[in-house]
Amino acid sequence: MNERYSRQIRYNAFSEYGQEQLQKLHVMIMGVGALGSHSAEMLVRMGVGRLTVIDMDIVDESNLHRQATYDESDVAHMLPKVEALKAHLNLINSNVAITALNQELTTSNIEAILYEQQPDIVLDGMDHFEIRFLINEICYKCNVPWIYGAAVGSKGTVFGIDYQGPCLKCMLRVIPTTGESCSINGVLPPNVSQVANMQVSELIRWVAGDGFSQKIMTFDCFNLKFNTFNAENLKDTQCPICVHHNYELLNTQQKQSVEALCGDVFLFRLGTKIFELVDYLPLNVTKSNHFVKLANYGDYTMTIFKDGRTHVYGIEDHKQAETIYHQLLKAIK
Ligand SMILES: [Zn+2]
Repeated sequence: MNERYSRQIRYNAFSEYGQEQLQKLHVMIMGVGALGSHSAEMLVRMGVGRLTVIDMDIVDESNLHRQATYDESDVAHMLPKVEALKAHLNLINSNVAITALNQELTTSNIEAILYEQQPDIVLDGMDHFEIRFLINEICYKCNVPWIYGAAVGSKGTVFGIDYQGPCLKCMLRVIPTTGESCSINGVLPPNVSQVANMQVSELIRWVAGDGFSQKIMTFDCFNLKFNTFNAENLKDTQCPICVHHNYELLNTQQKQSVEALCGDVFLFRLGTKIFELVDYLPLNVTKSNHFVKLANYGDYTMTIFKDGRTHVYGIEDHKQAETIYHQLLKAIK
C-alpha cells in the first residue's frame, strides 16, 4: 500500500481502487478563488493525477481571509491566482501535473479549452451564475460531468451533475438576477471550505465508482443548518440543454468590449497589444511583472492583464468609459 495515501486507502468504500482511479484522473477547476483553491489543495494532497486550473484574476489582499494557499507575498508580487496556486501546490505534492491557465472563460474560448485539455471532470469555482450556465452547456455538449458549488454570505449549495440526471438549467430554469456576490453580500470562510469539501466529496464518490449522490446539498454555516434534497424529480422533460441540446449561450457572441464591474470599475477588452506596447502609450506604468501591469492614465488608474483585459478605476458612467476606451484603442493603433 502506498504509505503517502494509506489513510484514505484504508477507508473501505474508497480503497486501492479509488486511489488508482484518482491517480488516473484529470480534473479541471474553473475559477480558483475561495472554492477552487480549497478543492485544488485537497485534490493535490490526495494524489489526483492531473489538475488544470483556470482563473483570470491576480491575488488581492481581500482574498486572503478565505482563499487557501495564497499569502501576502503573492499580493505584493501581483501574481495571477493560477500561478501562485501552482507554485504552492508543487511544494505540497510534486507528483501531480498542474497546468495553470491565466485567462478569462468566455463563450468563444470555453469549447476550445475543453477540447484541448480533455478533462475527465470539471469543478465549479466560479462566483456568478452566467458563467455557471455556460459551464452547464459545455459540459453537456462534451459529456463531461461537473460539480456545481456556490457560496455567498453564510449559505452554500453543492450539486453533482452528470449527463443522466437534471442539469443546472432544470434546477434553476432562468439565470438568477439577484446580483448576490461576495463583494456585495460578503462571505464567511467556513462556508467556502464547507462547499469545497462537499464538492470534493462528490468527486471522491464518483471516482470510486459510486456516482454522484443525486442530492442537492445546502448549508448555512452561521445558523448551522444542513439539508439535502432529492434531485431526481427536478429533471425538466423539456429542458433546452440536457434534453434538446440547444446551447443558447455557447451560440452567442463574444462579450462586449466595455463592461461595468463593481462600483467605479470598468473592464475594457483591448487585445494583447496594450500589454506589449504599454511603454509606448501615454500611460505611466507604476508596477509590473510578466503577467500584469499597473498604470495611470490621466486621473484614472488601471490594471492591464496579459490577455488585454484592462480594469480601469475611477470612471463615472458608461459614456465616460466608452470615451476612454476609444482613446486607448486609438493610441494602440
Ligand atoms: Zn436540464
